[in-house]
Amino acid sequence: MSAVYRVDLEAFARNLVRVREAVAPATHMLVVKDDAYAHGLEVLVRRAWDEGVRWFGAFDVVTGSAVRAVVGPEARIFVWLLGGADDLAAGVAADLDLGIGDEALLDDLATLPPAPARVHLKIDTGLHRNGIRPERWNAALARTAGLVAEGRAVLEGIWSHISEASDADDDDARALFLAARDAARAAGLTPRYSHLAASAAGFARGEFREDLVRVGAFSYGIRPAGGPGEADLGIEPIAGLVACVVAVDAAGAHLDVGGLHGLPSALSGRFDVATPGGPRRVEAIGATSTAIAPWDDARVGDEVVVFGRGGLHSATDLAERIDTIGEEIALRVSPSLPREYVH
Ligand SMILES: *Cc1c(COP(=O)(O)O)cnc(C)c1O
Repeated sequence: MSAVYRVDLEAFARNLVRVREAVAPATHMLVVKDDAYAHGLEVLVRRAWDEGVRWFGAFDVVTGSAVRAVVGPEARIFVWLLGGADDLAAGVAADLDLGIGDEALLDDLATLPPAPARVHLKIDTGLHRNGIRPERWNAALARTAGLVAEGRAVLEGIWSHISEASDADDDDARALFLAARDAARAAGLTPRYSHLAASAAGFARGEFREDLVRVGAFSYGIRPAGGPGEADLGIEPIAGLVACVVAVDAAGAHLDVGGLHGLPSALSGRFDVATPGGPRRVEAIGATSTAIAPWDDARVGDEVVVFGRGGLHSATDLAERIDTIGEEIALRVSPSLPREYVH
């Protein structure tokens, strides 16, 4: 036996039920970027499809196409990192919903063979990551209306991404969003879907739910740092990092995971893990192994849950000890650690 990242698909299914209920009557778009938050894209997408998820947020065209290969033609797959004409063409070919946050992409769309692209136009509501600036919005709408008239595009949605860091900022962002949607309608466009919320606002703030809520973190049981607990949210971590004891000596019990597997060395001395002898302190995180305080009959081969499901602390618990967010810990779990799926 050696270390694995153990993913409980039943817990994932329960989270999906919970997310669906929390965002209703809006629809849950399951965000699966970063290999489904490092849980394994293919297996999680397949399970989500079986559980009734019909919208996937896949980030880029490569991921979107991978999702398409798993779920078949009926699913809606939204991507929002698009590099130019080739990417757009690949996205249209894979029948993806394209999040367009840059006017130059509208020009690129005009150069493609006329197969109608499903466009979701993004208004920048303050994050300045991408998105069309409010002062350019009307020009982008006119450009989009032209593409629609030429049969090159269907305006499926208007969307944005908000910080979810302060209610006041989010309220300002939402006001810009609603004005942008009104402007689209005034320009004769009829977007079917509005979406701007992710996990936090989707759960906490009904007026942000609109038609689709793009939920990643909470689907995997990753709670916000400094925010409500998993139990309050009704979600549970779906994965645990399970290590093995590979040596026991005077310095302690040594586990077969370390910094190279994704454990930040800054966490040395700062949390306890679940061992067969009860909670034990993590003493030193090295590159490929971690020393923990021993227990009486510790032996090689014993299983220790370092964090997450079955352990004492969630990814976000650890993140809070080093002033970061749960995703930072969860996404660092190395792809070299085998994923083990529990049904
Ligand atoms: C990552 C991401 C999400 C999901 O955010 P969570 O907080 O993980 O739910 C939603 N929308 C966009 C554009 C994203 O990049």
